[in-house]
Amino acid sequence: MTATVLDERLVTLRDAAREWGAEFRGAGAGLDTDPDAVGEHLDLGGVRALAAMLVPAEYGGAGLRLGGHRFHGMTAIERAVVLEELARGDAGLMLASPGASMSGVLVDVLADREQKEWFYGRLLERPTWTFFALTEPDRGSDATALETALKTSPDGGPHRLDGRKKYVGNAARAALGVVFARTGPGPLGVTAVLVDTTDPGFHAEPLESLGLRAARICELTLDGVAVPPERVLGRDRSPARRGMWACVQTFNRLRPGVAAIAVGIAAAAHDYVPAGLGGLDKTGRDRLDELGRRIDGVRHLVHLSAIEVDADGSRGHLASAAKAEACRLAEEATLEACRFFGPRARWDHPVLDKLVRDARGVEFMEGAGNIQKLTVFQGLVAGKVGRGDPFPAHAAGSSTGGSSCG
Ligand SMILES: Cc1cc2nc3c(=O)[nH]c(=O)nc-3n(C[C@H](O)[C@H](O)[C@H](O)COP(=O)(O)OP(=O)(O)OC[C@H]3O[C@@H](n4cnc5c(N)ncnc54)[C@H](O)[C@@H]3O)c2cc1C
Repeated sequence: MTATVLDERLVTLRDAAREWGAEFRGAGAGLDTDPDAVGEHLDLGGVRALAAMLVPAEYGGAGLRLGGHRFHGMTAIERAVVLEELARGDAGLMLASPGASMSGVLVDVLADREQKEWFYGRLLERPTWTFFALTEPDRGSDATALETALKTSPDGGPHRLDGRKKYVGNAARAALGVVFARTGPGPLGVTAVLVDTTDPGFHAEPLESLGLRAARICELTLDGVAVPPERVLGRDRSPARRGMWACVQTFNRLRPGVAAIAVGIAAAAHDYVPAGLGGLDKTGRDRLDELGRRIDGVRHLVHLSAIEVDADGSRGHLASAAKAEACRLAEEATLEACRFFGPRARWDHPVLDKLVRDARGVEFMEGAGNIQKLTVFQGLVAGKVGRGDPFPAHAAGSSTGGSSCG
């Protein structure tokens, strides 16, 4: 039996997401060659579900109504359940879909009421893409060293935003998003602002990529973009409770979702082997079963890490462990799946080739593996990660079945 922390409500969500994910499979292959065709898929159940997620009911979000339950995707565990199943269908289409996405989590953490009304109001008008711009051309893992500048206006007029961002998903198709910028030196000098992409001085240029091509990662040029003071997120908070603090809180909450995407890619590779081969001998079945048990184990870790950050958004160490482990799994599972088909696997099986490329892309999202390992190490040194008790007490108290963690 497989370990699970999913109750009946979350199982309902997972089962619906599994059906939506199945629809993603065919659509995703086309988007890999033509990422701009994403607009043709807006009616898919999974795309509509992603557009509905992360818009709270109090701001008019209808959420998803399934089997007598309602879901708004405001928790990491809900997002992990949905994102895994959609990525199992196609991770590229999942990332290319409109919705609040990463910036929605930051807005939930940091925005005031007026800012939320503006942000969610825009999303409710029509399917709307958003972007989240943190990374800079020479500032990836070392995000605290970012150089994009936000110059405040002495007369209370609009601030001025100047700089460059890189690898920002969906930016060229987005209507609005968030940009991290510097108002002063050091980590406390970092702040985040809401930006409308139609504002003069904003330019997004798509970049070529090998994996997750549908996500259309972009380079941004910000050339004197005018930012009204009311678009500065956390404007009424102390510097210690906005910019980098909010960024860390946001990443902690997002990371189980990214880990779930990696698990979904691994599961897709696992699904493909028997389908592509038609039949397996006993050795092959044993190899595949072993991979399946490993996927179950990492999925369990991802769910536990989501429950942990839902309980306390500052506890991101388990989420980092889950993200590092899930990305390793995705890379190894996709390559292991190729081994079933021999040396021409990636040539003869474009689905596998895409899964290998996509797995590599997830490794870099929201912090590469080494950075996650550093976070876990720092947590261990600071005594924030229990060496003998990796599973938090509040998770163990939920509906737990048997265990086959690999
Ligand atoms: C598909 C995709 C979508 C993305 N979407 C977004 C987005 O929407 N918004 C956004 O802002 N960014 C986004 N990114 C960018 C992503 O966050 C960065 O790629 C990531 O932070 C790594 O930065 P880098 O590419 O500059 O690599 P680097 O920071 O140069 O890292 C390269 C390698 O060096 C290792 N390394 C770096 N520092 C250390 C260290 N101190 N110790 C040990 N090893 C280290 C890393 O683990 C990595 O293996 C996206 C990236 C991808 C691939």
